[in-house]
Amino acid sequence: MAKERVLLTGASGSMGGAAFKELRTRKDKYHTVLILRPSKVNKKNFKEYENEEGVVIVWGDLTKFEDVKKAVTGCDYVLHPAAFIAPEADAHPQVAKAVNTGGAINLVNAIKEQPNGGDNIRFVNIGTVAEYGDRLPPIHMVKVGDPFKPSVGDFYATTKIAGERAVIESGLKWWASMRQTFICIPNLMSLMDPIAFHQPPRTCIEFITAEDTGFGLVETMKCPDDFYGRVYNIGGGPACRVTYFDFLERTFRLFGLDAEKIMPRNWFGIRNFHCNWWADSDVLNNYTHHQRHSFEDYMKVVEKNASPFLRYGGKLGGKIPGVHSLVRELVMKRYADPLHWIQKNEVEKIKAFFGSREAWENIGSWKDYDHSKPGTERVIKPYEGNDWNELAKSRGGQCLKPDSKDPTVKTKWKCGFGHEFEATPRLVRTGHWCPQCTPPAWHWDEIAKVDPLFASVWYPNHSKDENQVVDWLYCPNE
Ligand SMILES: [Zn+2]
Repeated sequence: MAKERVLLTGASGSMGGAAFKELRTRKDKYHTVLILRPSKVNKKNFKEYENEEGVVIVWGDLTKFEDVKKAVTGCDYVLHPAAFIAPEADAHPQVAKAVNTGGAINLVNAIKEQPNGGDNIRFVNIGTVAEYGDRLPPIHMVKVGDPFKPSVGDFYATTKIAGERAVIESGLKWWASMRQTFICIPNLMSLMDPIAFHQPPRTCIEFITAEDTGFGLVETMKCPDDFYGRVYNIGGGPACRVTYFDFLERTFRLFGLDAEKIMPRNWFGIRNFHCNWWADSDVLNNYTHHQRHSFEDYMKVVEKNASPFLRYGGKLGGKIPGVHSLVRELVMKRYADPLHWIQKNEVEKIKAFFGSREAWENIGSWKDYDHSKPGTERVIKPYEGNDWNELAKSRGGQCLKPDSKDPTVKTKWKCGFGHEFEATPRLVRTGHWCPQCTPPAWHWDEIAKVDPLFASVWYPNHSKDENQVVDWLYCPNE
């Protein structure tokens, strides 16, 4: 039997890299095509595969249609995990838009230019957990259909939302979109970034290992026809559900250190990040069976991969008096963004991540922190029926042509601010809504007043008197 040909984007990233590894074990079935930017690092890292049998590298750019078309031509499958991610995306929104939105649109259009309008090609797009924004308890159990709430300043999320919208509305015969959770990689040092302090400690995270998510992506190629035309959430399952605080606490303890003694509680944001536990990650797992590793498995790998200095030195060091304050003052403090916002009185960031300076001052110590594990009950109730009037009403809007019965055919809608737009009911049922109300600008306080479903994910940690409107948070020069 002739081998099938698969295009994989983003092989230089963590999910794409793991998927490439997986594909190389299946060379008897698939030829692999990679599209990679011809950067110095990529040229060096992929040199060994340039002449490998069954692997073709197209040196090009997802933002250039001709490059994308060259890569897509002749393929049976397109797997698209490539993304320009945070924190870089927040500082360069135009690049984020070109890669995350433009890249997805280029792939859709290149598939359409293939024989039969691309009807023989199966396209799997990767979305992100960041589309849902912060879902702190009690609204931490998330399902496809929940409204989007990309965090203030999160251009990664907004540009991925637009890319996913283009895929769902593409008219392609075979597409699926899978929203990716936080991917754990063994190298903890790669997480050393100020963004680590934007995350509230009580955030629920259902992470996945890079290995499992790469495996799952490749397994989609075995899925039956009914897998397509749908949106999924990717997660590691119940055995990978932690809170961010648990994650920090356990990783520091591996090296003999006490996280609470190193990082005061008010160094962390109290809202406006993302991650959650999935109420429906089993749906995808029933197709791809990728949920193979637990949090405990991951911890063992981290320990094995840590440098000997951290592993042995750290364990001894934890017993030396004063070591926690040394690590705090010399290493961690410079990463603590929220502390710097307070010191410099960066008003919009303080509003976005705390509500007010007063709220930051009232955060309290780890002693008052709720260390219990959140439950798994679901609080948010999106409308799930087939009446488009009711669906629109749940978002504070109207369906202007409610009698079109087919959820895959575009119809007309009006949002609570009177913006009119076209969308398939299927799109609206996956959490998308008015494109004009999608940030930037971020004006969620106004939207919450007209959109009841959005309000149900906004007011649990915002007050009705707040009124923040911003175009950006991190990139004043763009
Ligand atoms: Zn609108």
